[in-house]
Amino acid sequence: MWKRILIGSIFVLASLTSCKVKQPELIGQVDPNAEVKNIILMIGDGMGLPQISAATYAANNKNLSFENFQVVGLHKSHSASDLITDSAAGATAFATGQKTYNGAVGMSVDTLPLKTILEECEEKGLATGLVATVAITHATPAAFIAHQPRRVMYERIAADFLETDIDYFVGGGKQYFDRRKGDNRNLYNELIKKGYKVSDYFEAPLVQTKPDVKRPFAYFTADKHPLPVTAGRNYLSFATIQAVQFLKNRSEKGFFIMIEGSQIDWGGHSNDGNWMLQETLDFDRAITEALRFAQQDGNTLVIVTADHECGGLCITEKSKMGRPRFKFSTNGHTASLVPVFAYGPGSELFRGIYENTEIHAKMRQALGWDDPVTADRE
Ligand code: MG
Ligand code: ZN
Repeated sequence: MWKRILIGSIFVLASLTSCKVKQPELIGQVDPNAEVKNIILMIGDGMGLPQISAATYAANNKNLSFENFQVVGLHKSHSASDLITDSAAGATAFATGQKTYNGAVGMSVDTLPLKTILEECEEKGLATGLVATVAITHATPAAFIAHQPRRVMYERIAADFLETDIDYFVGGGKQYFDRRKGDNRNLYNELIKKGYKVSDYFEAPLVQTKPDVKRPFAYFTADKHPLPVTAGRNYLSFATIQAVQFLKNRSEKGFFIMIEGSQIDWGGHSNDGNWMLQETLDFDRAITEALRFAQQDGNTLVIVTADHECGGLCITEKSKMGRPRFKFSTNGHTASLVPVFAYGPGSELFRGIYENTEIHAKMRQALGWDDPVTADRE
């Protein structure tokens, strides 16, 4: 235990001394009335207002990416079963527009599969992507592509990837594809047979892996979960840049991608302030890359939100600018309203206070879809 605290403090010191103070970098605005062709939905798992406040003050109040957004709203995160949502029900609300029970992945309260916005985008000819800093089969990314009654069904969730034509995905979870216990399928090879370019951390780092725009792309960053950012994981910003450039060239109709800063939540569950903080700052850097792309592109809506707060984090009295101190009030999630930041055409829709399910409706509206969501997925 003491050893852990000691190592933790060394990390804090190392990161405080090594990290140069970031200069304010405001990103220009784009025409709010332009057509929305692309949506980049970014989910900081467990990233409530306290986590964003902590990151802002840890960065000496220099503008983090969040300050580039002119539209801010709040969503109510409760699920159909619980006042305190879990990540599966939270992501299912964004992905399908329906509240469900905690643990459900892309399924209704009656365990019927619900069509996700990613699947709808696919049907309409847009390119689609998922990026996570945990296993790609974990609750948040899973809810956009899979339909399973329980979030822990990682192998079944992996098999659901093969039921789609997702164009780009990067995350951990290789073992649920190529060393399955529940059946003898090798989904890694099945992806290749289906035409994917597939690679993984064992073959070459992501930065050295060039996607070919003529083929869908899958890359595994770990057998199970990638390392925390404090232990050296560093692909999120790069994957963000690579993904949006790839997807933009992949379809003329546009793209949808969900990018998750997955481990902010785990810092919260562990009541580990530095883990939470460094994951939030890592996510912030990826948001900056998404905004840069969106500003140049002009037809991209960027939405940044969280599924829920985690840890009941508070920044305590002994904090100083540049050195926030933390106390956690729980090692679970909390019910506080969750911020939503929107940038680009369609962003105005995200002002106000609304249910988490409205994010789905607002994304569809921004894309100009006035048809109702067609029947649930067969
Ligand atoms: Mg998650
Ligand atoms: Zn959690």
